[in-house]
Amino acid sequence: DTNIFARILRRELPARIVYEDEHALAFHDINPQAPLHLLVIPKGAYVSWDDFSARASEAEIAGFVRAVGHVAREAGLVAPGYRLLANTGGHGHQEVPHLHVHLFGGRQFGAMLVD
Ligand code: 5GP
Repeated sequence: DTNIFARILRRELPARIVYEDEHALAFHDINPQAPLHLLVIPKGAYVSWDDFSARASEAEIAGFVRAVGHVAREAGLVAPGYRLLANTGGHGHQEVPHLHVHLFGGRQFGAMLVD
């Protein structure tokens, strides 16, 4: 409840928001790792991809997946291509315990991201 993204959802902290609907909020990462680096989070309090995929309702899952796709399309990422990433847990190096999907774009990436 006190993590950074929960606080951004409650508008207690500022963010460069690019999209919002019933199920999701999307905003720029504060420390971009690519020319375009967006984060998309569900509005529900799910700590990770694992938690979300196990506990979220069908409507929340559909709404979130639709929102991620919409944000990528609106950002112009589809034609050039982009990378989608959800760090999960300790080995996944997840730092903020509210599910977030990273959208990276704006340059050619390598075959895989390993560290
Ligand atoms: P993780 O490592 O959990 O997958 O990613 C967390 C991401 O949140 C990092 O890319 C980091 O730059 C970003 N981040 C951390 N604090 C803030 C913040 O206060 N605002 C925004 N917009 N992004 C943040």
